[in-house]
Amino acid sequence: MRILVVEDDAGIALGLRTNLQQRGYAVDVCASLASAWAALSSEPFDLVLLDLGLADGDGGDLLLRLRQARAAAPGALPDPLTPVLIMTARDQVADRISGLNLGADDYLVKPFDLDELEARMRALLRRAAGRAHPLLVHGELVVDPAARTVLRAGEAVELAPREFALLLLLLESRGRVLSRQQLEARLYNWQDAVGSNAVEVHVHHLRRKLGEGLIQTLRGVGYFIPREDGA
Ligand code: CA
Repeated sequence: MRILVVEDDAGIALGLRTNLQQRGYAVDVCASLASAWAALSSEPFDLVLLDLGLADGDGGDLLLRLRQARAAAPGALPDPLTPVLIMTARDQVADRISGLNLGADDYLVKPFDLDELEARMRALLRRAAGRAHPLLVHGELVVDPAARTVLRAGEAVELAPREFALLLLLLESRGRVLSRQQLEARLYNWQDAVGSNAVEVHVHHLRRKLGEGLIQTLRGVGYFIPREDGA
């Protein structure tokens, strides 16, 4: 899952980036409204963590602009439906209400606990994927995004963080083919040096660990996990 952190306090931004990367997220940081808008217009983010007080303006303006963006076509960027969690030092009820009124999905008042942040992020990502249940179940697989565990027929399977992230992406989009480029964009940030066959290698490992039949290849197009109803 790819996360955009919009935060002009370098210490907070670094702490968030380091912690979330350790938890398996791909994280990009923007310190201004302008760079954040450029990022949202060029890369697919699953979630935005948005500071309100930024050097070149108020994060609320970015939120409003994002929510008012009219997607020209399905999948076009910026995506107005991107979940946004506002992070604010302003312990003012009015700021939180106006943030939610502008289209934020949740908020946290700084300083906040990282476990609480991640729990809220997972809830937003789950809802964005149209799921109410915290576990993903597919055939003999049970995936728990909170605990980052995978059970196959009741047996625990060890996955590397990117393998886990890739499995989640494919399960969240069951029945839909995702290209190598689309998967790379959701698994890596700008600074990651991505080998040309990185996704292929992760798919290979997932097939070895979870069975050859799970992830299908549509030659020249991409990868998908078929829906259980066969679609
Ligand atoms: Ca700030």
